[in-house]
Amino acid sequence: MAKGKKNQKKPHNRQKAEKGRPPQQQPKTTEVTCTGLTDDGKGIATWKGKRLEVPHLLPGEKAEVAVPKRGPAKVVKILEANENRQKAPCPYFYECGGCQIQHMTQTAQYDFKQGVVDRLMKPFGKPEPIMTMEEPFGYRNKNTMTFGEGKKRQVIGGLYAANSHDLIEVDRCLIHDPKADAIIGTIKKMLSSFKLQAYNEDTGRGFLRHVLIKVGKTSGQVMVVLVTGTPEFKGKNNFLKALRRDHPEITTIIQNINTRRDSMVLGNQEKVLFGKGFITDTLGGLEFEISSRSFYQINPVQTEKLYGKAVELAGLSGKETVIDAYCGIGTIGLIASKQAGNVIGVEMNKGAVKDAIRNSKHNHVKNARFHQDDAGEFMTKMAAAGEKADVVILDPPRSGSDEAFLSSVAKLAPSRVVYVSCNPETQARDLHYLTKQGYNVQEIQPVDMFPQTYHVETVVLLTKKS
Ligand code: SAH
Repeated sequence: MAKGKKNQKKPHNRQKAEKGRPPQQQPKTTEVTCTGLTDDGKGIATWKGKRLEVPHLLPGEKAEVAVPKRGPAKVVKILEANENRQKAPCPYFYECGGCQIQHMTQTAQYDFKQGVVDRLMKPFGKPEPIMTMEEPFGYRNKNTMTFGEGKKRQVIGGLYAANSHDLIEVDRCLIHDPKADAIIGTIKKMLSSFKLQAYNEDTGRGFLRHVLIKVGKTSGQVMVVLVTGTPEFKGKNNFLKALRRDHPEITTIIQNINTRRDSMVLGNQEKVLFGKGFITDTLGGLEFEISSRSFYQINPVQTEKLYGKAVELAGLSGKETVIDAYCGIGTIGLIASKQAGNVIGVEMNKGAVKDAIRNSKHNHVKNARFHQDDAGEFMTKMAAAGEKADVVILDPPRSGSDEAFLSSVAKLAPSRVVYVSCNPETQARDLHYLTKQGYNVQEIQPVDMFPQTYHVETVVLLTKKS
């Protein structure tokens, strides 16, 4: 009741202002015109004098939009369409939270990302044209689907809806590796024949929570991780036999036990049920071991281009001391080590550092050392000890780097800094700092690492002012 009263007092469109009209008959939608895009690909409009962000709306478009009290506005009907609009190839696109810009043609997606980078980097120069991906679907090497119970306790296997914790049934995600979804489909069917339940988030009971599949794109190896809510696995041997019979491409199967009540996919306890417990993949001519937990770039085709560019910009001659900061499992540093004097990697995550050390041994790399530390603190210590570096490569998380790190870069005085970033906004902030500390931006290269989503990666070369 109170709701209706409030609506009458504050009508949110023309019709609602009509006197005496009962609230339940009032139209729930409003007409808007889109004037631009946010950096995460939403349409910008004005409603009741305020800025309104509308997912799936393009500049110049007129649309009928529903504006709920809570949660994002929703396009109900496009009245005038932008010429760059396309029907999303994925039928789940408008519900699912995974991709944001499938309603833009591929060219429009590139223009959008280029526009974001061009605007943010304007103070530093003109970015190169974005490195595109020839086949912008099926690129993911890490694929997860979540399992749960529906109202009638039926199994649901799929992905979360946008901005919510509701599972939607999905049998094919167009950016997943098709091999992965085929295996997940088989597992979904097998659950009922093996009388295994999906996990129920409300009760915390049930067996299967997630299936995570990692694929080595060059090696062809496939890892299946069954994330379960209990350690018991009824009918395990027959289950594994049946799964491997249908999918001989599987090279290792792991049971990961996650009894936590949160939305993190992996738990801490793991059993290798079949194979070695890891897969390998080749990147930049080196072979990397990938475990269920290791961080590894999810688009291997574009990663080759990204790392290739980063190493090219490092301008190595075989003598340099190179710092690979925020190095993860050491991929960039190890690839650069072939052309460097020596490489010093620093990374906060203990498991990743272990992986980096193992990967350097596996590839017979003798000139790389990896340290577990906060990158900023590590660099501060190096600077205080009066050490020098010729090249600093950094690839920080979305939040960017920090002042401890950036001020130490200035003290270590490398002639080149190569800054790889998955968030051009924080990168631009850090570039402002570095350009005040005696560096010039020389080249800015955007790379489309995540087609169909709003994300964009950039590599920037800075050189020391002489
Ligand atoms: N260069 C790697 C990883 C990049 S992801 C690759 O391309 O694969 C960013 C990495 O920074 C993650 O591995 C994360 O664990 C690490 N990290 C985050 N904050 C850090 C900090 N303060 N110091 C060091 N490493 C950090």
